[in-house]
Amino acid sequence: VSRLKKMPQSMPEYALTRNYLELMVELPWSKSTKDRLEIRAARILLDNDHYAMEKLKKRVLEYLAVRQLKNNLKGPILCFVGPPGVGKTSVGRSIAKTLGREFHRIALGGVCDQSDIRGHRRTYVGSMPGRIINGLKTVGVNNPVFLLDEVDKLGKSLQGDPAAALLEVLDPEQNHSFTDHYLNVAFDLSQVLFIATANTTATIPPALLDRMEIIQVPGYTQEEKIEIAHRHLIPKQLEQHGLTPQQIQIPQVTTLDIITRYTREAGVRSLDRKLGAICRAVAVKVAEGQHKETKPDRAEVGEGEDCKEHVTEDAKPESISDTADLALPPEMPILIDFHALKDILGPPMYEAEVSERLSQPGVAIGLAWTPLGGEIMFVEASRMDGEGQLTLTGQLGDVMKESAHLAISWLRSNAKRYQLTNASGSFDLLDNTDIHLHFPAGAVTKDGPSAGVTIVTCLASLFSGRLVCSDVAMTGEITLRGLVLPVGGIKDKVLAAHRAGLKRIIIPQRNEKDLEEIAVNVRQDLTFVMASCLDEVLNAAFDGGFAVKPRVERLTSKL
Ligand code: ADP
Repeated sequence: VSRLKKMPQSMPEYALTRNYLELMVELPWSKSTKDRLEIRAARILLDNDHYAMEKLKKRVLEYLAVRQLKNNLKGPILCFVGPPGVGKTSVGRSIAKTLGREFHRIALGGVCDQSDIRGHRRTYVGSMPGRIINGLKTVGVNNPVFLLDEVDKLGKSLQGDPAAALLEVLDPEQNHSFTDHYLNVAFDLSQVLFIATANTTATIPPALLDRMEIIQVPGYTQEEKIEIAHRHLIPKQLEQHGLTPQQIQIPQVTTLDIITRYTREAGVRSLDRKLGAICRAVAVKVAEGQHKETKPDRAEVGEGEDCKEHVTEDAKPESISDTADLALPPEMPILIDFHALKDILGPPMYEAEVSERLSQPGVAIGLAWTPLGGEIMFVEASRMDGEGQLTLTGQLGDVMKESAHLAISWLRSNAKRYQLTNASGSFDLLDNTDIHLHFPAGAVTKDGPSAGVTIVTCLASLFSGRLVCSDVAMTGEITLRGLVLPVGGIKDKVLAAHRAGLKRIIIPQRNEKDLEEIAVNVRQDLTFVMASCLDEVLNAAFDGGFAVKPRVERLTSKL
């Protein structure tokens, strides 16, 4: 301050020093909010704000209970990992609400400069503090909840590694004296509650991953999405659009239609957007209706057969698809049925994935995991005259290409046992034959070992000329010996198969434990085949099994 006094105001350094001093004064060095943590209330609040996600809520409550008993925050940093739109950020916000703390979100996606976290030195022109100190200044207390959003999308560049800077922030042993380069004085971060979110752990640097406790937040089932829509999303959207349940009625069949035919996601964000679009369309009708309320006469318009299904006796709602009488006041509540849905959102964007039966040998259904949740994948194979070459298409990563080579090698070495032949009847499968394997959705990059069993089944079908059952999906890594090894993402994959209406799922034996995480109603609809070797996979994938040619024991006369 004494230096500032001596400086003439026109000096460029005057503004810098002044800014610095202002920040120093503004920072909440000792200002904090009082925690009001009551576990019973926390449980109710979490349950009220979020449907389902039992595992996550249980872990959060445990975390809060320890905080209540021990009254300090040294403990693991929670990191919620899951697809977009499953409520990770919103749970973080709920935690802040239960604790009665301030909430601040720091988006880390695309941050590739360590001074973003730790600030620039004051000697640089345009220097400023990092996001942590900036966040503290914004919330004005030293014990907020900081949500570090998208830690998996931190970048790296010549300006240093921001993940390394985060290490210090997240380490409870070190962060009581966190020094921002701009501030140049240690600030105690030990009272700040950090929560991180990510879409996948694969891209989080190992040292950072080690500091955090990972809690997986998997995608929702259709039933859960319907409940979430009716309990949370629809009331929220109605409020945002100034509508009331007396004006609009969205039955559960419509919600299911939106979920299956207009969205394809693990979370509920796009469902929320579609509901928003419906509310907007209805808002126009309602607002128009308010103008025309004085006009009593109204032509009767016949409704289509489909609409009648949803019309209840007491209220006789009208479909908003009746464009003929747009100018007339609509009868309340406006019912959103299939026709109205088509009118507002356009023709359905997605069709049920398994609508046709597999009608050709050389096709098998695999299960893939993506950060957006599980998906089913039709693996296709064809053969033609050639010189024994294998062509792979569909933007495959190295691991997946290796799986394809493994599958072919295993089939070639077992061709006699399974009576597999190439087009000219020879057991040497690649003799005068080229094979082409294709993984559809060619624009999406795919990698990972879990397609191994699918490729084997698909090729076995191609070489035996038999059809794979249409309602079987499979996943599993293979080895040269024909063993089936465990893979990840079983829950998401099973949910995808269930969504697609498949009935039987082949999973590796050692993944049996993962089935416990799947809701009972989903498990009841499906039959699981646990396979530890490829024989079992092939037996389950083909109707009537896949016969192994019995080894003929040659008896030689001893005489
Ligand atoms: P993420 O951070 O996982 O990408 P968000 O937390 O932003 O997702 O969630 C998107 C929206 O979905 C929010 O409006 C949230 O309220 C809603 N949502 C997600 N899951 C649930 C749930 N289980 N119950 C109620 N609302 C949910």
